[in-house]
Amino acid sequence: MGKDQSRSRPEYKKMTIAVDLDGTLAEYNGWEGNNIIGAPVPAMFFRVQRWIEEGEEVVIFTARADCIEAMVPIRRWLIYHGLGDLRITNIKEKGFQEIYDDRAFRVERNTGCIEETDWG
Ligand SMILES: [Mg+2]
Repeated sequence: MGKDQSRSRPEYKKMTIAVDLDGTLAEYNGWEGNNIIGAPVPAMFFRVQRWIEEGEEVVIFTARADCIEAMVPIRRWLIYHGLGDLRITNIKEKGFQEIYDDRAFRVERNTGCIEETDWG
């Protein structure tokens, strides 16, 4: 079922959606340091804004978040771009219902099959 359909159900419960930063929510063209985070990627940025407006919990799930020095620039970036004080982690959580990441491939559960995409 598509996400938008499921969200219109009256008994709908809020989701926890994990979103990668570099290359997913922010432009990324190679590592330049903790203090350099690219401009927002519009399509993903607007999607995240919509999820927040709809009441979903969006968690920034990034390998950057492995030290305190990296957390401050991420938090600053999120606030500067108007997404607010989202939770940031580098730990995959059991509560993540969806994960958006530019490196991931979707594997069909319990089969090992790589799901086909129509994105080219
Ligand atoms: Mg990435």
